[in-house]
Amino acid sequence: GVPEMPVRPIAERRVSRQIQVGPVAVGGGAPVSVQSMTTTRTSDIGATLQQIAELTASGCQIVRVACPTQDDADALATIARKSQIPVIADIHFQPKYVFAAIEAGCAAVRVNPGNIKKFDDQVKEIARAARDHGTPIRIGVNAGSLDRRLLQKYGRATPEALVESALWEASLFEEHGFRDIKISVKHNDPVVMVGAYQLLAEQCDYPLHLGVTEAGPAFQGTIKSAVAFGALLSRGIGDTIRVSLSAPPAEEVKVGIQILESLGLRQRRLEIVSCPSCGRAQVDVYKLADEVTAGLEGMEVPLRVAVMGCVVNGPGEAREADLGVASGNGKGQIFVKGEVVKTVPESKIVETLIEEAMKIAEQMEQDGVAS
Ligand code: SF4
Repeated sequence: GVPEMPVRPIAERRVSRQIQVGPVAVGGGAPVSVQSMTTTRTSDIGATLQQIAELTASGCQIVRVACPTQDDADALATIARKSQIPVIADIHFQPKYVFAAIEAGCAAVRVNPGNIKKFDDQVKEIARAARDHGTPIRIGVNAGSLDRRLLQKYGRATPEALVESALWEASLFEEHGFRDIKISVKHNDPVVMVGAYQLLAEQCDYPLHLGVTEAGPAFQGTIKSAVAFGALLSRGIGDTIRVSLSAPPAEEVKVGIQILESLGLRQRRLEIVSCPSCGRAQVDVYKLADEVTAGLEGMEVPLRVAVMGCVVNGPGEAREADLGVASGNGKGQIFVKGEVVKTVPESKIVETLIEEAMKIAEQMEQDGVAS
């Protein structure tokens, strides 16, 4: 039947405060959200909105845009207004851009008050403006830009150093009664990163934004992020995630969604259960799985489709799925809800599966399964 959310969640979620990033709740038991960051010049409003639209289509729920110049700050109001998803302005150092982002209606601002304090102490004014506009702040501590004082104290960016930095940053806002905060403590080493978030989770109740920073090209970055987020989320730690890849941001979103689905923290949509193939395979399983995946891309209903290379495990898995094929002797047995509905020649397997999938999806939509 329809895959359901696991009976037992992978972990009790850590109890955290809840903040509101536009319409998306973060923390306090809200579903873990997926975010990404644009790679366009923010001042190029058209290109940025175009990329945000692509991210939205890929399932991104919150988007961050960099704001290093006045031109970028000037673009924020239009981008925030026209974006389909909440926009977070990412600001380093310049308080004037923080005020601009808050005024522009950005859903949140990422800024480290420690940087502001060092150059032009307007932390109090930022706290007041953010409170007046209901704009939460993310404090983003990064191993690469850790305070020199802490680097000297700890020798390198250890979990303790990252956490001390984050809590100190938070205290600069707390002094002014501002607690509408989420925190990240990113490191490129998943082991250090996991240690840092665990420590941080014990020492505060702020919602946490998970990220392995500079995780690398798609393959390595995907694995680093999956391993680190899996370790943390399986302990209930983490309220919103950003996968960082040296790849187009929509890829980050796909990976983030897969991670949440794999952990049972989000209902799966399309799931392809395909065998790795082996010496018994009687069909090109890789090709078949790719073709079925491509043909069913964008399905909004939770559909489990089994693609099996032979009759050993084939019929069993195909029966467990909503839909499946078990191949043998140049033919494919098509299963729907455990019943063989037809046997088709190999060349017709893909189109038959897609046809049947559409029928099931239609039925599911009528039954209100899609959410
Ligand atoms: Fe091999 Fe058949 Fe199992 Fe696929 S289903 S891995 S072909 S035994």
